[in-house]
Amino acid sequence: MPLPLAQVDPEVAAAIHNETLRQHEGLEMIASENFVSEAVLEAAGSVFTNKYAEGYPGRRYYGGCEFADVVENLARDRAKQIFGAEHANVQPHSGSQANAAAYAAIIAPGDTILGLDLAHGGHLTHGHKLSFAGRLYKTTFYHVRKDTETIDYDEMEAVAVKEQPKMIIGGASAYPRLWDFERMRAIADKVGAKYVFDMAHIAGLVAGGAHSSPVPHAHITTTTTHKTLRGPRSGLILSSKELAQAIDRAVFPGEQGGPLVHIVAAKAVAFGEVMKPDFREYAAQIVANAKVLAEALQAAGYRLVSGGTDNHLMLVDVFEKGILGSEAEAALGKAGITVNKNSIPWDTNPPMKPSGIRVGTPALTTRGMKESEMRQIGAWIAQALEQRGDDAALARIRGEVAELCEHFPLYAWRRQSA
Ligand SMILES: *Cc1c(COP(=O)(O)O)cnc(C)c1O
Repeated sequence: MPLPLAQVDPEVAAAIHNETLRQHEGLEMIASENFVSEAVLEAAGSVFTNKYAEGYPGRRYYGGCEFADVVENLARDRAKQIFGAEHANVQPHSGSQANAAAYAAIIAPGDTILGLDLAHGGHLTHGHKLSFAGRLYKTTFYHVRKDTETIDYDEMEAVAVKEQPKMIIGGASAYPRLWDFERMRAIADKVGAKYVFDMAHIAGLVAGGAHSSPVPHAHITTTTTHKTLRGPRSGLILSSKELAQAIDRAVFPGEQGGPLVHIVAAKAVAFGEVMKPDFREYAAQIVANAKVLAEALQAAGYRLVSGGTDNHLMLVDVFEKGILGSEAEAALGKAGITVNKNSIPWDTNPPMKPSGIRVGTPALTTRGMKESEMRQIGAWIAQALEQRGDDAALARIRGEVAELCEHFPLYAWRRQSA
């Protein structure tokens, strides 16, 4: 009998066990997080972690890849079917590496790119100066409008005409509204730029039919697989056949060495789950839950950036009530509710002490929570923010949160087995 981890390495085993309990006992409302199934965990923890498989199915640089080929082909075929894409590369280790490879496939260092400003909801890899994107490319940005706090496509077009970018990238980490994919493509076509859409946050909504798809409009679509898509922590690139070879070369050998075959296997499992009919219900429920939570927070007097949400997340302007996002994050943490502080567009406060928090429903929806739980959670959030200086009150809410979580068990046997 092999020794269990608890005997081989009690310190790591304890940390894993404590993390399992933490995930079970609290309300996970970080918009970019989710809970994978036991099946996905099993594949991610499989013996494929031992395998080198540089190259692609049927064209590997190592022997013994026949089963690695099986899982990579399954992952690719399922991704193509889910999103209606001609080509899928399932090897990127993360969303950031998917973007690095996508850019490398179509533009050269020194070229100009146009992306959403990080301060307005964009991602580091869309041009922030500390990211590879900011170091390799000349970066220009578009923003949200001051009045509606929605993407300013007129500004995007004006900047594109002036700066002549080789690539325009859409997508965001903190944007609660729908995107106009047609308009972006038209702007890209007007200036002869490639259009890349990074659907990292919304990929699960797209897959489940709760959000329109960028795939028919973009030259390349990138995504993470661990957010609303509910797979292992990883990346994916989709494209037409014409760009397939450039993308595959950009991933390997361009950006990476051997793929994480265990994670590719877990992606195949997750994509298989996405193809089942109940994933459509899941995606619709994420959005329905976000709507109800948004209404509850607004009813409690909180201003939401852009006035609401169309997707899985919302940005709450807590500073309008005199609360810093960092204070809100800490108080909610004490109440068993995990969110992240977040800048709001045109923020007057610094990024580490911003004016907002970002709140999302994908993880709670995976646990089976629905509209009535969202109303309750909205009330708890408002209460916790109001009583943010009162540790006893926050502890009381934490107790109520833990009680609710008992009714929506997560990883039950893993919590017992330690
Ligand atoms: C999360 C995210 C990424 C990066 O994903 P990592 O796996 O953390 O590298 C890229 N783009 C967007 C829009 C994201 O939200």
